[in-house]
This record gives sequence, structure tokens and C-alpha cells, in this order.
Amino acid sequence: MSVPRRPICGQAPNPRTTTSYNATVHLLNADLHSHSNVSDGTLSPQAVATRAKDQGVEVWALTDHDEIGGLTTARETALALGMGYLTGTEISVTFAGETVHIIGLGFDIHNPDLAAGLAATRSGRLQRAHAMAAGLAQSGIAGAFEGALHYVGNPELISRTHFARFLVDSGVCADTHSVFRRYLTQGHPGYVPHRWAGLGDAVRWITAAGGVAVIAHPARYRFTPTVEYALFTEFIAHGGRGVEVMTGSHSGAEQIRYADTALEFGLLASRGSDFHSPEESRVDLGALPDLPGRLKPVWEALADRVQWPAGARPQERSR
Ligand code: AMP
Ligand code: MN
Ligand code: MN
Ligand code: MN
Repeated sequence: MSVPRRPICGQAPNPRTTTSYNATVHLLNADLHSHSNVSDGTLSPQAVATRAKDQGVEVWALTDHDEIGGLTTARETALALGMGYLTGTEISVTFAGETVHIIGLGFDIHNPDLAAGLAATRSGRLQRAHAMAAGLAQSGIAGAFEGALHYVGNPELISRTHFARFLVDSGVCADTHSVFRRYLTQGHPGYVPHRWAGLGDAVRWITAAGGVAVIAHPARYRFTPTVEYALFTEFIAHGGRGVEVMTGSHSGAEQIRYADTALEFGLLASRGSDFHSPEESRVDLGALPDLPGRLKPVWEALADRVQWPAGARPQERSR
């Protein structure tokens, strides 16, 4: 039996969570994409783990942006609660002039090259935040840097999300999505173009540390089919092995489309809510549809890297 799912954080069922046309699904409740206040989530790593467990998650990964600082607590809490655990992070890279997110799973947190790569990726954020605040000041919003800083849990990880929370709480916009639309995306006053790591660098940091690299929420990128094809082929050429099929960012049609993409490119498939906050996230931990049975789950390929509490390893089931 699968665990009953609460699809949304206290809201009506998500109309975008349609099931795949293939009735066979992988029933293990894996959620391999979530954020804590070590990046731009609002809950502590411990609280995210607890919520994951309450939501029926059986294998969990905390994937903070460009950070692994929450992982020791995440692991301890997950194992104490009886959940399976994989190490995780979500690395910002620049590809074809756009920001793309690469999830790393199952790596060694003590790998020095990965730690150095993540530190280098974080290092540009403070300067970018000052430039964002200057842009907002020019459009009449004063004090945004200090305002955003108030919401930051990790001084090395100031993100656009923290600016968005400040602008909502100070009454400029009704919700964070409107802030992104009006202020924080290309062509708007708080947007500052930023050059992140290269695709190949991020994939190599993850794989050299023994992990698997996964393209996060592919439908979010506004690439032409040609550039998207280049993203997938270059990602694989660098050693990337997976793609998120079930994510809080995908519509039902996009879930099916990227299931096909996974098969076309021979990629492992991942499932992760991208949970950030009970108030802001549309999809709760563990609440996405199951992965279609025709796909190979990334957590199966990483079976020897999943850490289980003694005696708690569930059987992978499918129907
Ligand atoms: P950053 O890494 O600082 O550029 O911030 C990126 C983060 O902003 C993402 O990880 C999301 O959490 C959040 N984000 C991006 N676009 C939106 C949006 N349209 N609405 C709400 N949050 C968004
Ligand atoms: Mn985020
Ligand atoms: Mn992302
Ligand atoms: Mn994310």
C-alpha cells in the first residue's frame, strides 16, 4: 500500500498532478528535492526532515542551493525518524546564458573539490544582492538589502527568495510569485544577470564526489528545442545521469514529456517536491504522483548510497 498523500499545503488538490498514461508506478515515496533555511527554505533541516516523515516520505534528500551545511543535521534527523536518506544539493549553473539547476545526490559530503566548488558558487551572491538592492532603490524601494538580510538563515546564501519575502511582508506585493514577476526576473528593476558555475564543472564536482547529477525541473527553462537538446547532450557528455520528471514545477503534460525525455536519453528519473515553505510551496513533501514504472528511479541506481536506519529498509514496490 502507498502512504496516503496530502497533495498540497492545506489547499485544494493540485489540478496539475495528473497521473501518467502508464498505470505501473514506483510506489516508494522518495522526495529528493527540498530546501531548508540553510538556503532559501523557511524551516530548519530538522523541521524539513520531520515534515517529510509526517508526509509519508520514505527516502529523503535535503538539496539546499549551493550548500551542504545542513546535511549532517538532515542525516541525523532522517535516520532517527526512520527515513532513508541521501546526501543532496542543488547547484546553480549558467548554460546558454540562462540559469540551470543541477541536483547532486548520493555524494561524499567530505569531498574537498565539491566543497570548494560550492563555496565559489556561493561567493558571488552577496555582491549580486547589493546590486539587486540598488536596482530596487532606483524604482523607489529603499532598504531592500537590509530587509532581505533579515530573512536570511545563512549569511553566505542570500537569494532572490529572501528579497521576495521582504517585498511581500513590506506590502509591495501580495505573494512571492508576483514579486518575481514584477521585480526579480529579467527586464525588471531587481534583476541582476549573474554568471554561475559551468555545467561541466557542477557535474564533475558531483560525480567526482561519488554522486549522481540530475537536471532539476527541466520545464522551467525557456530554451528552444535545439538548446534544450544541447543541454541534455552536453550534460550527459560531462557525466550527468538523471533528470527530474516528477517535480513541483511540472504540469501533468510536462511530467509525461520529461518521462519520454528520460527514456530518449537513457537517463535515470527523479522525483522531488522542491519544497521551500509550508506557506509558499504549492506541493508538499512526498505529495507528487509516483514515478511511472517504465522509468528507472535514481534512488534505485543509488541504492548502495541510500542510508537506512537499522531494520527500516522498505521493499521497493510497484504496481
Ligand atoms: P537565486 O538562486 O537567488 O537566483 O533564487 C532562485 C530561487 O528563487 C529559486 O530556487 C526559487 O526558490 C525562487 N524562485 C524563482 N522563480 C520564482 C518564481 N517565479 N516564484 C517564486 N519563487 C521563485
Ligand atoms: Mn529556491
Ligand atoms: Mn531550482
Ligand atoms: Mn530547488
